[in-house]
Amino acid sequence: MGWKTLDDMDLNGKRVLVRVDINVPVENGKVTDTTRIERIAATVDHIQHAGGTVILMAHFGRPKGKVVPEMSLEHIAGTVAEVLGWPIVWADSDYRDAVKELEGDEILLLENLRFNPGEEANDPEFAKRLASLGDIYVNDAFSASHRAHASTEALAHLLPACAGRLMAEELSALEKALGNPERPVVAVVGGAKVSTKLDLLGNLVTKVDTLVIGGGMANTFLAAQGIDVGKSLCEHDLADTARAIAQKAADAGCEILLPRDVVVATAFKAGAENQTVKAEDCPADAMILDAGPDSVAHIVQVFERSKTLVWNGPLGAFEIEPFDAATNAAARKAAAMTKAGDLVSVAGGGDTVSALNQAGVSDDFSYVSSAGGAFLEWMEGKTLPGVAALDQDR
Ligand code: ADP
Ligand code: MG
Repeated sequence: MGWKTLDDMDLNGKRVLVRVDINVPVENGKVTDTTRIERIAATVDHIQHAGGTVILMAHFGRPKGKVVPEMSLEHIAGTVAEVLGWPIVWADSDYRDAVKELEGDEILLLENLRFNPGEEANDPEFAKRLASLGDIYVNDAFSASHRAHASTEALAHLLPACAGRLMAEELSALEKALGNPERPVVAVVGGAKVSTKLDLLGNLVTKVDTLVIGGGMANTFLAAQGIDVGKSLCEHDLADTARAIAQKAADAGCEILLPRDVVVATAFKAGAENQTVKAEDCPADAMILDAGPDSVAHIVQVFERSKTLVWNGPLGAFEIEPFDAATNAAARKAAAMTKAGDLVSVAGGGDTVSALNQAGVSDDFSYVSSAGGAFLEWMEGKTLPGVAALDQDR
């Protein structure tokens, strides 16, 4: 891998610009979930203990290049200090003086980068201004690295650059899962719609040995085979696309697994009266809301013969019981195999993370990515500009 880590850098006496993702949820002025702040602690501690001075750069919300007082990072500076355990000095958009005034162990938190239109424009002048504040650049925000912004892309070319701990961990996990995985590799792709995951499916069929398709998008594949899916969520206009993906998989030697049996109901609500039927027997007035037990048994068989699993998208409407059953069962199997050392398991996606948390297995997966869009783009096989910018000889 072409990127450096903190271990390759001489940090002593250096001002270290660290791009982080601390875009935390805030309700009534209070941070309701500090996970994103906790996850940058390893990087911050390492730099501070190595004698460097951390300068945190982050965005918050979508101010679109304007100063929006409610989106000021000043509001969360106190929480950042509390969680990280270092004194924080917040700097308004006139950064320069604040750097000079830093004392002792103090960390600088720069104002919301997106207040400046140069950030999202990847403006070289804005990047230069940021570069003038520090000696070394560290990117610890994988989740922001699918965007070519000044703090993720242009700036990386202006200073000696490396990946932070969280970024390095994420990149290594992803490399193990798809870049250079132990085979056989199985991918599980579920969720609502095929249309949001076309590139992802197209990339995976060329990389994995088995592709398990579940959730609403499986209905589109079933319908494309001429199966009547009743009132199920289904993108009928994508039948040709589904057949093309199936053909691409066949050409690449990738086996596609569709549900054999399904759980159907006439209402989309918790505890709705439901029955399990063969995939081809969905009643005309019913919706497919989950994969059935035969399908789960089939998925479990595939897991058992696999060494690596990548997962995005739940197998059913996991938010409402009992349509979380297939997702939970498959997730627990993957977790148990991972714990036993028989499987490398990497998962990501907003709803996928919720589903795995709900199943209580997140800690047992090899890696659960909270990176959202960046994780999906990586699964689509795209080069992430913020990662590519780190990948250079210097
Ligand atoms: P992620 O956020 O992990 O990428 P998606 O957003 O693609 O996942 O998909 C999650 C959504 O898919 C959930 O809201 C879930 O209820 C929905 N879903 C899964 N299976 C079905 C189904 N059979 N019918 C309708 N919705 C479904
Ligand atoms: Mg989602």
